[in-house]
Amino acid sequence: MRVTAFAGGIGGSRFLLGLRAAMAADRPGAPPVTVVCNTGDDLTLHSLRICPDLDTVMYTLGGGIDAERGWGRVDETWTARTELAAYGVGPEWFGLGDRDLATHLVRTQMLDAGYPLSAVTAALCERWRPGVSLLPMSDDRVETHVVIDDPDDPAGGRRAIHFQQWWLRHHAELAAHEFVQVGVADARPAPGVLDSIGAADLVVIAPSNPVVSIGTILGVRGIREALADTAAPVVALSPIVGGAPLRGMADACLSAIGVETSAEAVGRHYGGRGAGGVLDAWLVDTRDAAATVPGVDVHAVPLLMTDAGATLAMARAAIAAGLSGRR
Ligand code: GDP
Ligand code: CA
Repeated sequence: MRVTAFAGGIGGSRFLLGLRAAMAADRPGAPPVTVVCNTGDDLTLHSLRICPDLDTVMYTLGGGIDAERGWGRVDETWTARTELAAYGVGPEWFGLGDRDLATHLVRTQMLDAGYPLSAVTAALCERWRPGVSLLPMSDDRVETHVVIDDPDDPAGGRRAIHFQQWWLRHHAELAAHEFVQVGVADARPAPGVLDSIGAADLVVIAPSNPVVSIGTILGVRGIREALADTAAPVVALSPIVGGAPLRGMADACLSAIGVETSAEAVGRHYGGRGAGGVLDAWLVDTRDAAATVPGVDVHAVPLLMTDAGATLAMARAAIAAGLSGRR
């Protein structure tokens, strides 16, 4: 059974641990899950190309993550950042650890030598062996920016800042008027992305941020169409439980695009495949069991990734929901 999964960073990678475990336990011999990962959070700092979601997935599945923080390397040290700060050089809001720096140095060196991001990711994964086939959504540069009120403009103008700055520096507290995925209209899916969707027996959309993780992936040319066309069932899991996001600020992202923070509203935002959307099945938490989405099978199961067992059960429920609805 060939499975393709869409994922962002922290929520996505946690879920992928469960999906990888479910496949290993229930489908031994199946090819590794293909992961299509958001790269809209990527940024350049100190001339280094940084891919937060790819790295979170790679470190989490490869056993190198700081599980408590949910991002970055375990046993991290911060000497470089402290030294930069001693020069008065920021940004102080981005956690650039010493171990993590090595990843960014290798990536930037390879990109500068002309390798596409997908090849660089594959090379980094030779060390981490995440047990999935990890693909960036695109080799082309896409960067999410957030349109906010310009604090320096007395006339009430607006300006755009990088998503990471809005998220990490301002904790998503500045009202977002719009997300602009710079470059997404011209971005082509990375090699393997469309094929993996077309050839899949099941497509799973992780409980990742529906706007800045999954929404960005869906914005890449051809990916929505590939989901519409694939013979595989498409099943997604709600990142919203009981009207609130878990870990993170997805509510701030949803309100910016005019979607209520509820499992039902996010399911309707994704929409049923029969009506121009992307879903065949939508998994919501048991406390959201009343949710309905036209044309979509809604399944209510526990959706809290509290431990490995709970996450495995979520992945099994997603696989079962997808396969039960197969057309
Ligand atoms: P990011 O790129 O690091 O922000 O991570 P993702 O986009 O992959 O995932 C963020 C989303 O994961 C948030 O919207 C959270 O609501 C969701 N999330 C985190 N933990 C859980 C959980 O235990 N259960 C569910 N259902 N969603 C979760
Ligand atoms: Ca992210």
